[in-house]
Amino acid sequence: MIPLVDLEAQYQEIKTEIAAVIDEVLCSKAFIQGKYAAAFEKEFAPLQHCAQAIGCSNGTSAIFLALKALGIGEGDEVITTPNTFFATVEAICHVGATPVFVDIDPDCYTIDPSLIEAKMTGRTRALIPVHIHGNPCRMDLIMDIARRNDLKVIEDCAQAHLATFHGKAVGSFGDAGTFSFYPGKNLGAYGDAGAVTTSDAELAEKIRLLVDHGRDTKYTHKIVGYNHRMDGLQAGILTVKLRYLKQWTALRQRNAGLYRSLLKDVEGLKLPVSHELASHVFHLFVVQVPERDRVLSYLNRHGVAAGIHYPVPLHLQPALSYLGYQEGDFPVTEHAARHMLSLPMYPELSGEQIESICELLKSARKNRKT
Ligand SMILES: *Cc1c(COP(=O)(O)O)cnc(C)c1O
Repeated sequence: MIPLVDLEAQYQEIKTEIAAVIDEVLCSKAFIQGKYAAAFEKEFAPLQHCAQAIGCSNGTSAIFLALKALGIGEGDEVITTPNTFFATVEAICHVGATPVFVDIDPDCYTIDPSLIEAKMTGRTRALIPVHIHGNPCRMDLIMDIARRNDLKVIEDCAQAHLATFHGKAVGSFGDAGTFSFYPGKNLGAYGDAGAVTTSDAELAEKIRLLVDHGRDTKYTHKIVGYNHRMDGLQAGILTVKLRYLKQWTALRQRNAGLYRSLLKDVEGLKLPVSHELASHVFHLFVVQVPERDRVLSYLNRHGVAAGIHYPVPLHLQPALSYLGYQEGDFPVTEHAARHMLSLPMYPELSGEQIESICELLKSARKNRKT
């Protein structure tokens, strides 16, 4: 079986370093925040071209903390796309704001900047562009819209560690960038973890308060906050993995290049597209294919764990029915949701594995009914 991601292969590569760091953290008893979290923050921030990174419990709390620290709440509207993981919208709901959807670009799958302004109202306060699949959004156009309309920008970078647009790292364009270190992400912990990046010192200060019960010293609580702290063990593990992130990212890009060259002549298949100024980091390698469900089950039957990200667009999720959207509201997202197929993608994926996946995909297309 070729898995969608292979965390075991990666672990084998770094096993001794991981064992050593776990031992160090346990001996130092820096279980929550502490020196390992501080060291990770310090190394991660410059990689994302930001002055600061604030470690937190996961990628969802990272978005929540950024929204909260920017003062977004009840009565406010926040624009994002329906083509993202549910967490992006959950965070908007949890601060009491209303998510407003904008359709995606048909080629890049990221928010279509040309559709944003039509969805703005007097209540619009922020934009959350999502660098979906690791593909950077058009941050030039998005920041221009934000400046003209006095909107805050939180970049959801959960799938896009080290991705850049015009040479500048994602998470460094807006007021804040939010990262997930969920195990399967490009930089993954061995449990839950996340971070917010920013170069705004005042915003960073607010997030540091919110993340740890609103306290600035052990027993002084300046505000009512939350417990969304980062674990020391996860921070230690992430610091080890961070040493490999550039190399792993380059391997993802190499694998994407190989897929691209092997699949370029397959009829009806749409390969990933990114803007010429964007450096895509391929959290996922997503193609569009006719008869997607048949092709997917063919691959699954032949030992390839391809998947779908995401089969149900957010505006059609039962939990969000109160927003009043219906089928047909976001035709580009809906079309993509019916045709997108995620092929296995991870740094350790071999050339032979990619060749056999591509062969299977080609035979699935040859057996087509239409
Ligand atoms: C994974 C993910 C999140 C949430 O991150 P968690 O660490 O799982 O809470 C948010 N947004 C996107 C786009 C994601 O892929």
